[in-house]
Amino acid sequence: VRAVAGPAGEGPRDALAHNYHPLPVTVATAEGSWMTDVDGRRYLDFLAGYSALNFGHRHPALVAAATAQLGRVTLTSRAFDHDLLHPFADALAALVGPLTTGGTDSLVLPMNTGAEAVETAIKTARKWGYDVKGVRPGEATIVVGSGNFHGRTTTIVSFSDDEDARRGFDPYTPGFRVVPYGDVDAVAGAIDDTTVAVLLEPVQGESGVIVPPDDYWPRLRALTAERDVLLIADEIQSGLGRAGTTLAVETWGVRPDLVTLGKALGGGILPVSAVVGRRDVLEVLTPGTHGSTFGGNPLACAVGLAVVDLLAAGEPQRRARALGARFQDRLAGFVETGLLDGARGLGLWAGLDLDPARGTGRDLCEALLARGVLAKDTHGSTIRLAPPLTISADDLETGMSALEDALTAL
Ligand code: PLP
Repeated sequence: VRAVAGPAGEGPRDALAHNYHPLPVTVATAEGSWMTDVDGRRYLDFLAGYSALNFGHRHPALVAAATAQLGRVTLTSRAFDHDLLHPFADALAALVGPLTTGGTDSLVLPMNTGAEAVETAIKTARKWGYDVKGVRPGEATIVVGSGNFHGRTTTIVSFSDDEDARRGFDPYTPGFRVVPYGDVDAVAGAIDDTTVAVLLEPVQGESGVIVPPDDYWPRLRALTAERDVLLIADEIQSGLGRAGTTLAVETWGVRPDLVTLGKALGGGILPVSAVVGRRDVLEVLTPGTHGSTFGGNPLACAVGLAVVDLLAAGEPQRRARALGARFQDRLAGFVETGLLDGARGLGLWAGLDLDPARGTGRDLCEALLARGVLAKDTHGSTIRLAPPLTISADDLETGMSALEDALTAL
């Protein structure tokens, strides 16, 4: 029963708050790349929970890890250690590898949601700025990119330039400078003695899978190293295989100082996020300065360890590269034949622009829904595709044919 009683004189009302506008489908079960709705209709998942489902729905190894852990211990709080906390941190640090060229080993700070990981990175950078760099109290600034999406907390929406995300939630947190994404000179111009960090998405997912110029990240790395500013890569959507590499910044051979991870780290089972960073930087956080009741809980660590195992073997990254090549080729073909205005992406991840005269992103997603494929618009006439990295070549082709058909019909 979905309705609750409304005020006197009005009919029953749905109790769910209205912060999303989902497609009209109600999922009941899912397995691998497929979801089934309450009426038994099957759909191919071409969104993969905004990349939280990189390994598909209910991946057997991840479900087995979660199920086994449910029979052991699920929560201790950080008041006590548990037997998977240090193994998870060690495994994730090893997966990410040493940060900064020739640099030290890394520390891992586990949290839950992506926004929490970003908040943690911001707090770390500010504290590093005061304690290590010597920025005057209260003056720390962080440079961010236009069109960014890093989550929904009050501080994070303070530096969003998406009016829907921002308007009405002021007063805003100060200390952020927004510069055009993809422009290194703009970042250089925004850095001064107060700057503690540059925080950017390697590829902007929410903005429509915007891939920056090839020299962007290498030049950012050189610039931030030279100016004693931390380089923070928000890999919450781009990381953990999606772009064809463990971290998307590997595409350009760059090692940031801090990395935020989330989404797929929880294997599509529960929220798991983390900041992985240079030991000397994350060491500014000492007992009592930061925390989370659920961060690093035993169930999260069990699933997170199984996720790291999958990625350490390299198969998801290989699949994203191999299937991604075909996927990107097909999309480029749709642009050539005029079915799309534009398409871009990396690995199994793409942003598609429809000619606005032919319809909105929402129209295209509804046309896909009618053809048994689930995807979601980002804004305007742009949609994002991010199938599970475990998708079969045949299923990928089925989805691409449905897309071609939907585009032709619009
Ligand atoms: N950072 C990036 C790059 C994201 O894409 C997202 C979510 O879409 C977040 C942070 C926020 O993650 P969460 O929704 O888990 O708070």
